[in-house]
Amino acid sequence: MTRSLSIFGATGSVGTSALELVAHQPELWAVEVLTANRNVDALASAAISVGASLAVIAEEHRYGELKAALAGTGIGVAAGADALVDAADREVDVTLAAIVGAAGLFPTLRAVERGGIVAVANKETLVCAGPVILAAAKASGATLLPVDSEHNAIFQVFDFEQADSVERIILTASGGPFRQKSLEEMRTMTAREAVAHPVWSMGAKISVDSATLMNKGLEMIEAERLFPVGPEKIDVVVHPQSIVHSFVEYRDGSLLAQLGSPDMKTPIAYALAYPERIETPARRLDLAEVARLDFEEADPVRFPALRLAREAMEAGGSAPIILNAANEEAVDFFLNDRIGFLEIAETAERALDAEPWCAVDTLDAIVACDARARRRSRNLMSEMIDA
Ligand code: NAD
Ligand code: MG
Repeated sequence: MTRSLSIFGATGSVGTSALELVAHQPELWAVEVLTANRNVDALASAAISVGASLAVIAEEHRYGELKAALAGTGIGVAAGADALVDAADREVDVTLAAIVGAAGLFPTLRAVERGGIVAVANKETLVCAGPVILAAAKASGATLLPVDSEHNAIFQVFDFEQADSVERIILTASGGPFRQKSLEEMRTMTAREAVAHPVWSMGAKISVDSATLMNKGLEMIEAERLFPVGPEKIDVVVHPQSIVHSFVEYRDGSLLAQLGSPDMKTPIAYALAYPERIETPARRLDLAEVARLDFEEADPVRFPALRLAREAMEAGGSAPIILNAANEEAVDFFLNDRIGFLEIAETAERALDAEPWCAVDTLDAIVACDARARRRSRNLMSEMIDA
């Protein structure tokens, strides 16, 4: 089997893990497109090392720089947001959507419209445009496969032919770096402390989301998009070791799970090679060494993001879009030391309270709602900073 593969967000944590898989078994892959936001050097060296056909940099003014870095290699070069979407139009067997944030929406949607297998890590796209993406997949016949470890685990044990017999989906959450911190301690936590995740090594935004548990909130909504169960059947349990990647509970009392070391290479490999299973360098579990698995309830007082996400999931329409946009803006402010840790969820809550939620059916309406929520969130944070 040789599969052609495009990686959107190739320089990120997920993208880099995917490139490690390619380097591990180069004979399996023909890399078509690699993209990055602004890191020309990382993009160029990745494109050279895997022999990609095209490298695309999202920041348009970096075109010349990328062109120079790839001169003489025969690798095509493009830049800008439109070039990213055009690159998603190139025929490949598998597209890995690993851009972070709603910025991934247009290229991911285009890949889904084209068809083939789309391995989705970019959860924000599913959260803010789930119905549009699913409708596009239905129309094109594209296969959406979840890369997020929890959803990948659920996918592996979910019986789609007997979805009615599923009583509950239980997402596991590591609890993040502040699992045992008091509310008072959390108030003064810095970006550096928030990004230092105890188990997973990930990009900055998702690391902060793991500290607030907004990541798990977004994942509840992601699960509601991907699996045919109602929002009331989606639960969360804290599991600090991150060995069990999630559970599906059936009405006969069976609880099925997928386990593995906390290494994204396993779910990425599953999605990229589906329906085959390929060998990966991920560490194998030594169960005697693991010895025990702990589970506990998430504290709704210290982690209000879970409550906000549940409300947004149940409301649907504009609510998940507002939640996601406000969170992206707030995390950006937090990473730049402009607001405190607890103000991330506070911003999301205020943004959700600021307008009545409504139905959002079209792509244009999603984009408008997202832009409005971002503007409002920045204004809310400016007021908080001035106060
Ligand atoms: P990251 O920050 O490490 O990498 C993000 C990638 O997106 C980079 O290649 C970057 O160049 C690109 N990018 C950023 N902004 C862009 C923009 N405006 N336009 C175009 N490209 C842009 O992020 P990550 O940790 O790899 O996460 C990627 C996605 O996968 C996120 O949606 C995240 O929630 C999801 N995810 C990540 C992990 C993980 O272990 N890192 C696990 C599960 C899900
Ligand atoms: Mg996850």
